[in-house]
Amino acid sequence: MTVTLGSSDAQENSVTENSNKDTSPDLKQSKEEKWGYDLYPERKASNDSALQKFLKGRNNLDKNKCEQNVYKCILKSPLVKLMLGALKGSGCEVDIRRHISCEECAPTVSGGYDPILNQIVVCQNTAKSTGIVQGVLTHEFIHMLDHCQNKLDFTNLEHLACTEIRAANLAHCSWMSAWMNGDTSIFNFKETHQNCVKSKALSSVMAVRNVSEDDAMKAINKVFPKCYNDLEPIGRRLRRNSDDMFKAYAEGAYYGYEYEAP
Ligand SMILES: [Zn+2]
Repeated sequence: MTVTLGSSDAQENSVTENSNKDTSPDLKQSKEEKWGYDLYPERKASNDSALQKFLKGRNNLDKNKCEQNVYKCILKSPLVKLMLGALKGSGCEVDIRRHISCEECAPTVSGGYDPILNQIVVCQNTAKSTGIVQGVLTHEFIHMLDHCQNKLDFTNLEHLACTEIRAANLAHCSWMSAWMNGDTSIFNFKETHQNCVKSKALSSVMAVRNVSEDDAMKAINKVFPKCYNDLEPIGRRLRRNSDDMFKAYAEGAYYGYEYEAP
């Protein structure tokens, strides 16, 4: 079964400006740089030459595979279905054809969220497995939910830091933290996990905002206690090799987060 998705990508970045809205070429250029548009070349598709368009044809296989992985996650991943249910329950229903786009990205990113178009980018050239696509979708759906439900302003550094903390906390670091290191005991799991969230959030913020590491870290530390403890809508930090994600999905129904796969 084929799903027609829009087109876009990234691992961990929020695309925050729509170049079409700018009037001055200089302004357009500086905003694109500022907001990391170089990471998402397909966001500027209208500038492509005929040769570039021809070369892009070679990416169609990647795009098809990416769209299949997205569709698989929507049908089968408890985390992705939980996020879709939470979005729907918050009045932010997702149309997968309109709101998810597989695109070619810079090699440093695997996904992104464009708040202007309310669109998630899955990077077809870097997010190549269903597992990675699941991580990207969960992460970016958290940004989408924060943008829609919590009226998050991506141009506000502290807001950006908060949503990146939440995404790292609920998605990335749940798989990547303590359990990756064989010698990490349960007793320092908490600290390891917090460090993982801080460093992941830092790299995410710095990927999309032209700020110093110091300023980014200041913003992260300021909002950390509040945003790290905000586990909505997953309700728990997922542990590797556990049935946490299935429990979270099952409990979602109690909070009105039901989602019927298409
Ligand atoms: Zn992010």
